[in-house]
Amino acid sequence: MVSNIRGGETGNIQAFKQTEVSRVCQGRVHATIADRRELAKTALTPGELIDTSIHLDESTEPVTGQDMFALTEICHDGFIELDVRDIARMLQARPGDETESLFACADRIRKRFVGDSVHIRGIIEFSNYCVRNCLYCGLRRDNHKLSRYRMTPDEILTASQNGIQSGYRTIVLQSGEDPYYSAQDIALIVEGIKSFRDVAVTLSIGERARSEYAAMRSAGADRFLLKHETADAKLYQQLHPGASLKTRVECLQNLKSLGFQVGSGFIVGLPGQDISTIAEDIALLKLLDCDMAGIGPFIPHPDTPLASYPAGDVTMTLKALAVARQALPYANFPVTTALSTLRQDGRQLALSCGGNVIMPNITPAKYRALYEIYPDSASLKDPEDGGIREIAGMLKAIGREVSTTKGDTLPKERRSIPTVDSNNHERMR
Ligand code: SF4
Repeated sequence: MVSNIRGGETGNIQAFKQTEVSRVCQGRVHATIADRRELAKTALTPGELIDTSIHLDESTEPVTGQDMFALTEICHDGFIELDVRDIARMLQARPGDETESLFACADRIRKRFVGDSVHIRGIIEFSNYCVRNCLYCGLRRDNHKLSRYRMTPDEILTASQNGIQSGYRTIVLQSGEDPYYSAQDIALIVEGIKSFRDVAVTLSIGERARSEYAAMRSAGADRFLLKHETADAKLYQQLHPGASLKTRVECLQNLKSLGFQVGSGFIVGLPGQDISTIAEDIALLKLLDCDMAGIGPFIPHPDTPLASYPAGDVTMTLKALAVARQALPYANFPVTTALSTLRQDGRQLALSCGGNVIMPNITPAKYRALYEIYPDSASLKDPEDGGIREIAGMLKAIGREVSTTKGDTLPKERRSIPTVDSNNHERMR
């Protein structure tokens, strides 16, 4: 199956390049990751790789039986890049053996490429003000039922210091899109955190001008999380009034070019999404060469326009995570809080399907309930220090361990395909 796909594509690459369609974002054309790889060899400026054109141009029957093994083995050996059709087929693994095989392969690849250590990042949600109006989010501008808060720089620094004293090696600063904090404000906070200890600082504060990102990077910020949410440009526009996928991806490219480790991610179960959309989401992560990706289920919030829609499917979320791990073997994949909110054992499940990061909430207790992207977040149950000791115990029980490093993604130039532990490989098959 896989070799047929590759053979069929070769002749299309030149034609695809000649159309230049993807470079000007004029709609959907036949384009695979292989095409894009070729295209990427030509000169590109930030923004040019943006397109909505990755799509399924032939049938996507569910992968079955031996085909599933063939596909997962190919990924495992790292010889061939997954393309969007492979991804879609894997996402359609049937319940039982096929899905188990998919999860086991993701776990094996996780172990082989990033090891058994789990990186623990303390997250501080420092403002729930947001200028955006995303249809699915409780922090949206038009949700007037929500009490808003902003932490002062001193409060943020104190919470960060507490987190560092508890053992966190990464502090994640997250907020709604809140221009109240200038780039200079954020830069000063980053410098303050960095002065406490040699820790990594991750920012998750939404879209900003490149010059602002540059100021934050100069101040020492190491990583930036900016989920693309959905790779379907039309759906993106419907869900994010006044915003565009094009701008989102431009921001991600700007961040990458400034030297940030860049995280993106998407929501599983959004109204209007289907298997091909999720396949495109994973393909976009790969196209952007993301260092990190958060993949979580949609959870409806009662005070949003999507209140009446059902929550995303847990198994599909895990399948998306498992396939994403295979598509980006070196990336860091957090266990999303949304998954833990829908399933009490969400953390353990995600850790067994490719996950290698946990992000406990270390926001001061008085603010936590107000950061309500969706209701009843599992993070509300986290102790003040995020429960770092309890997490260490849980990890030990499942044969994993807390990482002692900051958990940076391995730079591309230092990556190589790790050899297979054949005994382990055979045993897991
Ligand atoms: S998803 Fe982010 S940008 Fe959108 S409303 Fe919520 S906090 Fe704001």
